[in-house]
Amino acid sequence: MPKRAGISLPDRIGVLDLQGGVVEHVRHLERLGLCPVLVKEPENLSGLAGLIIPGGESTCLGRLLTIFGLDEAIIDQYRRGMKIWGTCAGAILLAAKITGGDHCLALVDIEVARNSFGSQLDSFTDYALIPELSPVRLPLTFIRAPKIIKVGPGVRVLLAKDDFIAAVESDGALVTTFHPELTPCLAFHRYFARKCGLKPLDETIVADIDPAWDSTSWTDHLRI
Ligand code: GLN
Repeated sequence: MPKRAGISLPDRIGVLDLQGGVVEHVRHLERLGLCPVLVKEPENLSGLAGLIIPGGESTCLGRLLTIFGLDEAIIDQYRRGMKIWGTCAGAILLAAKITGGDHCLALVDIEVARNSFGSQLDSFTDYALIPELSPVRLPLTFIRAPKIIKVGPGVRVLLAKDDFIAAVESDGALVTTFHPELTPCLAFHRYFARKCGLKPLDETIVADIDPAWDSTSWTDHLRI
């Protein structure tokens, strides 16, 4: 851990490891030269600069967070300065308001509507230019995704499409309703690492769209 004036600074990113797409986030962080920490219990949060809450099933993840005593611990670490990024189900867990449902961590002032594109079979891929992240168009994978339908003060929109918002950030959080970890795109993980004050491998060493990405990912097989 690096030190500034005798104080140890957090230098790791954690990935919540209760359910969902954990390993794909871990691999993307490793491609950027980072050394992620699996978070299964509150003790694993100590010394983290940031935490990724992966996609999965938000009701299940919310219950597991409570069972493992991680909900209060995450809120506490966030208030102490740990950054947080929620992808898809993770975005739902971070939202202050869920249309027709109960909020979980409520760390970001947004309203989300779950399963807004239909069933799992209505999952889809797309591309978008997000100038804050990259000069090239980035691939987006939406899997039974929510829509962000309202954004409060202090929350900046990174990507709006048609009738919904797909990516936002606040000073402490990044929220994406899609799954960058299921694409060859490293731009979101690099952006989050920098938000956490870390130094991931830069674009001259690993491109935003990594040609070395293992294309045997299950998304390729399904061609969604
Ligand atoms: N539909 C899921 C939910 O509402 C989220 C899906 C995902 O994370 N890909 O929890």
